[in-house]
Amino acid sequence: VEIEIPAFIKLIAQGKFLQAAEKIKEKNSLAAVCGRVCPQETQCETSCILSKKTKPIAIGALERFAADWQLRQRSEKVAKIGKRTRAKVAVAGSGPAGLTCAGDLAKMGYRVTIFESLHQSGGVLRYGIPEFRLPKKILDAELDYIQGLGVQIQNNILIGNTYSIKELLSGGYRAIFIAVGAGLPQFLGIPGENLDRVYSANEFLTRVNLMQAYLFPKYDTPINLGKKVAVIGAGNVAFDAARSARRLGAAEVVIVYRRSEKEMPARIEEIENAQEEGVRLRTLTLPVKIIGDAQGYVRAMQCLQMRLGEKDASDRRRPEAIAGSEFTMDLDTVIIAIGQNPNPLLTKVTPELKTKENGTILVNGQTQQASLKGVYAGGDIATGAATVISAMGAGKRAARAIDKYIRGER
Ligand code: FAD
Repeated sequence: VEIEIPAFIKLIAQGKFLQAAEKIKEKNSLAAVCGRVCPQETQCETSCILSKKTKPIAIGALERFAADWQLRQRSEKVAKIGKRTRAKVAVAGSGPAGLTCAGDLAKMGYRVTIFESLHQSGGVLRYGIPEFRLPKKILDAELDYIQGLGVQIQNNILIGNTYSIKELLSGGYRAIFIAVGAGLPQFLGIPGENLDRVYSANEFLTRVNLMQAYLFPKYDTPINLGKKVAVIGAGNVAFDAARSARRLGAAEVVIVYRRSEKEMPARIEEIENAQEEGVRLRTLTLPVKIIGDAQGYVRAMQCLQMRLGEKDASDRRRPEAIAGSEFTMDLDTVIIAIGQNPNPLLTKVTPELKTKENGTILVNGQTQQASLKGVYAGGDIATGAATVISAMGAGKRAARAIDKYIRGER
């Protein structure tokens, strides 16, 4: 997202912490979020020249420090903005892509409204990533900052249904940025997935993070968690679900993954933290059936032992089942975290918007422009499930392109 990394580190070294935070915020409206959840070890820190010989500078930790310092001082200067007299722009979705695009456009003087289908804002940062990794008060402070730039957020509005794209364009919005994410969970397609106490990680984390399910009946939405939990998958989402389950009191939580630990897509930090908290890893294991009891609750899971073969298209060694290796794990809860697909609600009712076979919206990679005039898209809805920083990068590119489009340069 184009942060001037050497410049902000120099300011920190000089003890100018507020200026350092302001330097970051020139480019990144969600600094305290990125400092916490971005996989810096595979992103900014790989460009650090020190990483060739030893450990890189801890750029992510420094970003987090400067952003938190600014939040503590409560002296956040709202970025210099021109008068918000320029055209109206609509943004669908208040995740990192939508917030970044909205913030950048507001800084340029546009009147931006974000329409968010949920009753609270922040996208995955709110309903997916747990409190212990990203405290809600940090997200709230970042949202305050963006609203302080003049961005309006309207909740409980599902773009495509409440208002169509056409209605927004004819209702005075000169451009629209679609940033509706990849919130549709994938399932295993094995027998037993409809049993009670089988959750998608998406549903499980939403109940916990957004609906305060652990405070039922004080809050409306309950959560029914057993004592022996298997989480299928090994990405960040799986580890967030596993750690949440432990914190909700599950005695045994095991990550079930069909490859080895080396291939796990989650951040190393997440894997280590989960193990410290008592989450076990059961690698080279493929679930084939979930077994229920007479009441329809999960009782066990039948699995196959795997071994790794040749590399596949993802450049990871392909897991292969070992013949005759069936075994059963005793369990009472299964959480499925094997990936998310693009959210189809908006594209289904907007057939003129071109999509790829996997359901992502087709865009120009430089400008994020979609197949309709004045309509842009970015973040997980255009890439498939990815990262906070890649969603933010798309938001930035779209803001720039929307500005050019409205000013008639494109
Ligand atoms: P989202 O964050 O999904 O936001 C989309 C928003 O659009 C949502 O609020 C949704 O309610 C709203 N919406 C959907 N449809 C409509 C509609 N029709 N109208 C209006 N609003 C709509 N990435 C990292 O970099 N680091 C991590 O540690 C990390 N951990 C993760 C943990 C979990 C549990 C999950 C699920 C993801 C994680 N990711 C992580 C991935 C990262 O959060 C996503 O890549 C990122 O949030 C995508 O941003 P986005 O703005 O495209 O979409």
